[in-house]
Amino acid sequence: MAEQQIPNLDGNFYRNLRKYYPTVDRGEGVYIWDTDGNRYIDGSGGACVVSIGHGVKEIREAMLKQADRISFAHGSHFTSEAAIECSEQVVSLMPSPELNKCYFLSEGSTAIETAVKLARQYWREAGKPDKFKTISRWTSYHGNTAGALALGGHTARRRHYQPLILHTPHIEPAYCYRCSFEKTPETCNLECADALERMLKYEGPDSVSAFIAEPVVGATAGALVPKDGYWQRIRAICDQYDVLIISDEVMAGVGRCGQNTALDNWNVVADMVVMAKGLSSGYIPLGAVVVKEKIWETIRRGSGAFVHGHTYSMNPLAMAVGAAVLKYVKEHDLVRKAREMGQYLLEQLHTLRNLEIVGDTRGIGMFCGVEFVRDQTTKTPFDPKLKVNAKVFQAAFQRGLITYPGSGGADGIQGDHTLICPPFIITREQVDTLITLLREAIETVT
Ligand code: PLP
Repeated sequence: MAEQQIPNLDGNFYRNLRKYYPTVDRGEGVYIWDTDGNRYIDGSGGACVVSIGHGVKEIREAMLKQADRISFAHGSHFTSEAAIECSEQVVSLMPSPELNKCYFLSEGSTAIETAVKLARQYWREAGKPDKFKTISRWTSYHGNTAGALALGGHTARRRHYQPLILHTPHIEPAYCYRCSFEKTPETCNLECADALERMLKYEGPDSVSAFIAEPVVGATAGALVPKDGYWQRIRAICDQYDVLIISDEVMAGVGRCGQNTALDNWNVVADMVVMAKGLSSGYIPLGAVVVKEKIWETIRRGSGAFVHGHTYSMNPLAMAVGAAVLKYVKEHDLVRKAREMGQYLLEQLHTLRNLEIVGDTRGIGMFCGVEFVRDQTTKTPFDPKLKVNAKVFQAAFQRGLITYPGSGGADGIQGDHTLICPPFIITREQVDTLITLLREAIETVT
């Protein structure tokens, strides 16, 4: 594939103003083609979005069928059969019948904002109006709108926008490869979970509304899987101090971690589950917050209205696509496939550990990551200016493999990384090709 240096200078405001973006043509299964005829393995499902694969005819048909009836009706005027079907599908994925009310949005960030506002309104209406703070974690990402960015813990993404970003309490992440408490798996006593209790005491539990976290961290660290017991302890602390858990499963949810919800891996039930990406597998913009009935019921009996709303909430076309995608996931047993093929993918990723710059390989289900380091023994990260993640990405892209790179959030604290999270339908042979191409790409950066 020829290396292109000329940035796109058309009327679009691209993410990277100095980069050349090829023009996408079409997609099928795990593959994407550009208009020059180059084929790519979508090794990251875009940004951990595509779960069922590209070009699925059933989704196109559901979309056309709904468009033939109506594409838009405002959520303050109508519900739709599609919305009812979509919520039924979403609720059927939940680990507890208590999680049974869905609020639909168009993406992850607004779903996060919605969850935080819902939590706040819930406490006001439940007679605890002082509970307003949301505690989150460093090395996390919850979206790019101002509120979500404040909760996220990725210094590089926040830096440009200070002081517009609110300062909210953050605790240490569950980052076993770089434990903030300098513990090993053998000496660990889940100090990173206990950090929540300490923060609650500092802030005053009566002022705290919710704790928000990604069950498995994606974009800011490359698939950080917490130690078993972490989420159970978080649940116990939140129960003790009357704090809601908002599980940000925008990346990790809808089967990505090999279970319907990511927290199912630890048998923990959150008070709210936020989903997006895999909810529509990228076929249409869609996000959702699923809340426990007690939250909905408290507001229903109280003021009776959630003072919120977006133009495209419950958009009939999006609802039809969401319902069709979830139906497809079930009918093709794709969550099990994500679990089983994910196991194979992770085993193969571990074979890259003999490469000089690979510090860690990790993941769960079809949600995996590689962290790059300058020194494997000391785990010293590369200087961010070297842009190792971008170099690996480019080398892979030129070979026909798409990955999702991320830089260390706070300089010197973590390494560059890349997410490997292909569609759940990937075959063993395609995993093998992915690994070969990734190995070659990493080998170009030494
Ligand atoms: N939360 C998490 C965990 C995410 O990974 C993302 C996006 O990558 C978001 C929220 C924001 O979602 P969106 O980009 O759809 O607004």
